[in-house]
Amino acid sequence: MTAWQVRSPGPITMRPLQRVAVPVPSPAPDELLVAVRACGVCRTDLHVAEGDLPVHRANVIPGHEMVAEVVALGSDTGGEFAVGDRVGVAWLRHTCGECKFCTSGQENLCPRSRYTGWDADGGYAEFATVPAAFAHPLPAGYSETELAPLLCAGIIGYRSLLRADLPTGGRLGIYGFGGSAHITAQVALALGAEVHVMTRGADARELALALGAASAQGADETPPVKLDSAILFAPVGQLVLPALEALDRGGTLAIAGIYLSDIPALNYERHLFFERQIRSVTSNTRKDAREFLAFAGSHRIAVTTPEYPLDRADDALADLAAGRISGAAVLRL
Ligand SMILES: [Zn+2]
Ligand SMILES: [Zn+2]
Repeated sequence: MTAWQVRSPGPITMRPLQRVAVPVPSPAPDELLVAVRACGVCRTDLHVAEGDLPVHRANVIPGHEMVAEVVALGSDTGGEFAVGDRVGVAWLRHTCGECKFCTSGQENLCPRSRYTGWDADGGYAEFATVPAAFAHPLPAGYSETELAPLLCAGIIGYRSLLRADLPTGGRLGIYGFGGSAHITAQVALALGAEVHVMTRGADARELALALGAASAQGADETPPVKLDSAILFAPVGQLVLPALEALDRGGTLAIAGIYLSDIPALNYERHLFFERQIRSVTSNTRKDAREFLAFAGSHRIAVTTPEYPLDRADDALADLAAGRISGAAVLRL
């Protein structure tokens, strides 16, 4: 099969991905073998390709937003899925099930967790495997291309929204407006929030307003109102400062990314006093994933998905790195 591997992690301009021909993987007893139909291109793939994240598997195939068809089953996959089913494959692919985090509803913090497209091969390929317990049924009413970004951009954005403690009808600030943010903004709007967007790209600001944001301005500009909650999607630590300053008393800032450049020194009075809070967001639980996918089934989310053929996966990542993508790019097989 055709696949892309991260051969030598480094700047995307050095083309760290290589297109290769490798054997179709065989599923372990608890795994499904799936034929990939579409795979989202996530900023985390860029962090894996560029080496911002340490290498967990040499020559890994990236990609963790797979919409796929089950083509074979291992010997012990339970009864949820059958050959021919359409399934979603997301970032989280293993947790231990026994530690204090797994047994208290926080499996996203499991120290033995493993991830698709980092610890195991992902969806920049014609076929992939997934543990059946970590595959997800997908909502109806979306094309395969539209579904792909829901599987990470959507799920992580949803968890970020939960972590941002947005009060009912509250004012939410969104910093950075790429794939995850444009989905999360729609979830917040559907829940009755007033959304303000701070982002560098004029196209992204236009998209934000078209989706129903109350305002859109530059990445480090001040929103027109004090915010109850904010989510930082851009992996830019400097933006933590203006985001905290924009919070109202008691407000919460959630940082959505797996990677953030260094945060400059904070000033206690300007950035934190009056009980403003700053929180990280680490992966997601399967409960988050299933809740969000069910929400997407009952609330139509408009997903902007520039498409690339599998053969152009490296171009898609380069475009993402350069800020040339509006919405969430998807590889189409
Ligand atoms: Zn665990
Ligand atoms: Zn992702």
